[in-house]
Amino acid sequence: MESKMKRREFLRSTAIAGMGAGLSGALPHELLGQLKPTSIFKPVCIASSNGLQATAKAMQMILSGADALDAVIAGVNLVEDDPNDNSVGYGGLPNEDGDVELDASVMHGPTGRGGAVASLRNIKNPSRVARLVMERTDHVLLVGAGALRFAKAHGFKEENLLTDESRREWLKWKENLSTDDDWLPPHNIETLDIGEGIKSAVRNTGTINCCAIDQRGNISGCTTTSGLAFKIPGRVGDSPILGAGLYVDNDVGAAGSTGRGEANLLSCSSVMIVEYMRQGKSPEQACLMACQRIAAQTKMKRLLDDKGRPTFNVNFYAVNNRGEHGGAAIWSGPRYAVNGGEAQSRLLECAYLYKRERR
Ligand code: ASP
Repeated sequence: MESKMKRREFLRSTAIAGMGAGLSGALPHELLGQLKPTSIFKPVCIASSNGLQATAKAMQMILSGADALDAVIAGVNLVEDDPNDNSVGYGGLPNEDGDVELDASVMHGPTGRGGAVASLRNIKNPSRVARLVMERTDHVLLVGAGALRFAKAHGFKEENLLTDESRREWLKWKENLSTDDDWLPPHNIETLDIGEGIKSAVRNTGTINCCAIDQRGNISGCTTTSGLAFKIPGRVGDSPILGAGLYVDNDVGAAGSTGRGEANLLSCSSVMIVEYMRQGKSPEQACLMACQRIAAQTKMKRLLDDKGRPTFNVNFYAVNNRGEHGGAAIWSGPRYAVNGGEAQSRLLECAYLYKRERR
């Protein structure tokens, strides 16, 4: 132990000497992170469009000196705790049985680590559990009952995540699934095909992805979601899969996603976006290239319109190590939240492959 300590001290002192001699490129990330002067990095935080408050909160913390990971997790916790966001955490839309199952991932650039949980029930802040997987286990991903046991071991309290509103949405979906089952939506004595054609319950998707650069120039990110509404129990989307729903490289930047997770799982877009940025593409170009790749890779006719374009949407958000950011989606419409140090965040348009026609 003593010799380890000495070695660490030696590393630190040579690191500082190395900085002076222009050898910083050879340093381990952790030391680089600690030693980057705080003044030259302009922090920035980006998120999916439901992240206005989250980015503002994260930036407030970053400006007080917080590490980017602490900041983005505190930011997304606001959305996880919000009963009115039915795509994340508490109040998230449940699976087909009416049980809320949450997915989340985190990545910490300066230490090159990541953690994730999937199909986690009864714990409203899966992002915080994902962080503990990263920091307090030798694993990267825990799922289902094992993830819940782990969360409880760390003192998380189990609670019912289904709000009345989400339960009603689920019931509407369930009762309108088929005219051949025994679940009946409200109807009157004259109605014949009960449940047919009332597709009012939208199987909406939604998630929050949030990435930031702190004042030391360190980059971290988090993605957290209740996933696809009314999914088959145990279904895991892209959000907790590092490389798909989130990827961070402290030397390059970060990327994350929302939208149809199945499409993103088949192309691991976040790691691709980071690689495109490493090759010199801007964040927006890199996100667009990921969209193009998904469009090219989608071959199943049931997922294509009559012009051969995907009928679903996937959105990407990215920031590079210079603080430049961008977003792109397959279909026009999505926006992303940005905060560059202001009291209030703003929404910017995502680039897109195809323009959605107004009907
Ligand atoms: N990407 C998420 C998933 O597939 C859902 C979403 O963002 O809409 O689980």
